[in-house]
Amino acid sequence: MSTRLSILDLGRLHLDLGWQLAMPAPSTTSTPNPPRERLALPVLGVVVQTAARTILFDTGCHPDAMKGRWTPRLADTFSFRAEPEQTLEAQLALLGLTPAAVTDVVLSHLHMDHAGNVEALRHAKVWVHRGELEFALAESLTTPDYTGPYISADWLLPDLDWRYVHGPAVVDRGVEVFPLRGHAPGVLCMQVELASGTFLFPSDSVYMRESLGPPPCAPGVIHDSVGFRETVDRITYLRDHHDATIVFPHDPEQLATLSTAPHWYV
Ligand SMILES: [Zn+2]
Repeated sequence: MSTRLSILDLGRLHLDLGWQLAMPAPSTTSTPNPPRERLALPVLGVVVQTAARTILFDTGCHPDAMKGRWTPRLADTFSFRAEPEQTLEAQLALLGLTPAAVTDVVLSHLHMDHAGNVEALRHAKVWVHRGELEFALAESLTTPDYTGPYISADWLLPDLDWRYVHGPAVVDRGVEVFPLRGHAPGVLCMQVELASGTFLFPSDSVYMRESLGPPPCAPGVIHDSVGFRETVDRITYLRDHHDATIVFPHDPEQLATLSTAPHWYV
């Protein structure tokens, strides 16, 4: 079987546009209080099937995110909604798959909208950037009254078969991951070679089309702003070099142009 991939629609995260794009509507003398925009962003996962492996890139939010699993402050800032057909299980079922069929989980990073469903995938090999895991543990376990994006209960599970990544790594032939600077200490981008062409999944290193530009637009909150510019150049280079399709992680306008599960890109 040649490699194929499918995009999973795992619900919507509602948040202030200023998290995605810094200074989206700065005040001016003539408009001292411009309206703030709150938007519904897609939460995505990706299934890649090769001859030997079924790889899931990102897992979405935990189903109990808004039922007390997230702190009240986190849930108020980023409210998550998923229809019954947008659960991970329902989306996998559209492809004729169950969580048990997943052999490898790639966590682009450990924020709550990407690493929320590891519990259902404990049998799989879990790929993560080592520096991201270390940072996430330190932040979430040692910060008093922590209300940030790392929900350690989502992924700090006994007996997980972690596969630590420090640099580029091959998950299977034609499916590679490599770190990108900017958003968090260790964000993994996935690059997939299909018969029809190359797909790039930069995760939150490049939130949406406007983030890439030109001109690039950094997010409102960032771990490494110099690294963000390096990432923009790198993703732009890879796109142009491979004539690749970039699938942005939180871009409602792009999602409207994509086909999601049960569609397979081949
Ligand atoms: Zn995200």
